[in-house]
Amino acid sequence: VASVESACVFCEIVAGRAEASTVLTTERVIAFMDANPATRGHLLVVPKAHADGLADLEPADGAEIFAVGQRLAEAVRRALGCTGVNLFLADGQAAGQEVFHAHLHVLPRYHDDGFAIRADFRTPPRGELEDVASVVRRALA
Ligand SMILES: [Zn+2]
Repeated sequence: VASVESACVFCEIVAGRAEASTVLTTERVIAFMDANPATRGHLLVVPKAHADGLADLEPADGAEIFAVGQRLAEAVRRALGCTGVNLFLADGQAAGQEVFHAHLHVLPRYHDDGFAIRADFRTPPRGELEDVASVVRRALA
């Protein structure tokens, strides 16, 4: 009976068994071009150790992901002439996560590039903000 392993596409890239256009590799992470870029130069920073999401991501890997994201943001500004960068991490299906191996998007931004985050931004009263802050503080305690 063949064992059924859930094939994680990012683990396959880390292992060198799937194709990727890599720009940087460190001890902990690998950065490569998103195969379906939202903008020119759209990169992904992926921990080499599999983690479904933030809950099981090693904090040291999280720190390295962000540090590499910073380096890439500077590099794409210089190399591609973008005038802005978004760092984006989707954690969970509701957040739009599609590959359940944690990853940071580095999105070079250009004038009128069509990229947008749609949201119903509100201006709640201070009391409502304080209520939510209190709930989150309790969760942190
Ligand atoms: Zn994986």
